[in-house]
Amino acid sequence: RAKTQQRAGHFYFSRSMGIEIRERVRMMHALRTGFAQGELFVVYQPQIDLSTRRPVGAEALLRWQTPDGKFISPDRFIPIAEYSGIIIELGEWVLRTACRELVRLREQGNRNFVMSVNVSQVQFRHPLFLEMLRRALEDTQAPPEFIELEITESMAMEEPDLLIKMLWQIKQTGVSIAIDDFGTGFSSLSYLQRLQVDRLKIDRAFVTEITGSARGSSIAEMVIQLGRNLGLAVIAEGVEDERQAQILQSLGCPIAQGFLFARPMTADALSSWLSDEAMQGAA
Ligand code: C2E
Ligand code: MG
Ligand code: MG
Ligand code: MG
Repeated sequence: RAKTQQRAGHFYFSRSMGIEIRERVRMMHALRTGFAQGELFVVYQPQIDLSTRRPVGAEALLRWQTPDGKFISPDRFIPIAEYSGIIIELGEWVLRTACRELVRLREQGNRNFVMSVNVSQVQFRHPLFLEMLRRALEDTQAPPEFIELEITESMAMEEPDLLIKMLWQIKQTGVSIAIDDFGTGFSSLSYLQRLQVDRLKIDRAFVTEITGSARGSSIAEMVIQLGRNLGLAVIAEGVEDERQAQILQSLGCPIAQGFLFARPMTADALSSWLSDEAMQGAA
């Protein structure tokens, strides 16, 4: 009996895999043509100083809208872009787009604004990554000290020596580095101490937990404390309500990002949102 179940299970598994692979291949082609035809664009989500409630930066996030009007989530297409290698071109394009947007925002008077850009592990491991980064900075004339690259904690887990070397080389360009989705991986404290990173980004899951149980804030609290001890900046992501913002602030988290403050928006919307914010600040 166990044997038939096993066989049935196996059959079911491989059949669904077949469908999944076909779907992946289909999406890979759609992504390639979609990118060439301008279906992809970058949106920006503001990051806010919790004590002054003023914007201090934004995260660039990739969007894909197919000709039938449907949005495909980056959580779905980024893995496909990585798997197929298109992420190399796509990631370079996002970086350059975000750099140009930063330059434009600076020309409009947003002088201390920081632009964060997500970097996939596939991009990061590419032998020409550093060259690509240097060229993007040079061509766009974006000031490196106002660019931040977000890498994920899971990336920080593999090949420690390679990562340490890469981070050191990236630092030489002047850009800073944040560890995204922090708290979801298991990096040891001693290892973290060896990494040339500037900021820890508390994962949304732990921000959500803050207002839940009595122990809900313990991970967020730990990350904030860790940042303080290691001399790293901290930002919280996925802040959706005022209570979360207040608890984070009381725990000593200086910066936050989330739907409470602003949703990701197009470049033009960000420009006007920032000038509205500046007017409110001046009033
Ligand atoms: P991430 O880098 O952790 O980005 C944060 C995600 O949380 C974004 O989802 C953002 O829209 C969402 N978010 C922000 N505030 C809130 C909130 O208050 N509540 C909720 N529920 N969600 C919030 P998005 O844009 O769908 O991106 C998903 C993931 O896809 C990103 O997670 C990142 O890992 C990846 N991604 C997006 N753009 C790029 C890119 O240009 N390159 C790479 N390599 N990955 C990207
Ligand atoms: Mg991110
Ligand atoms: Mg994140
Ligand atoms: Mg995330």
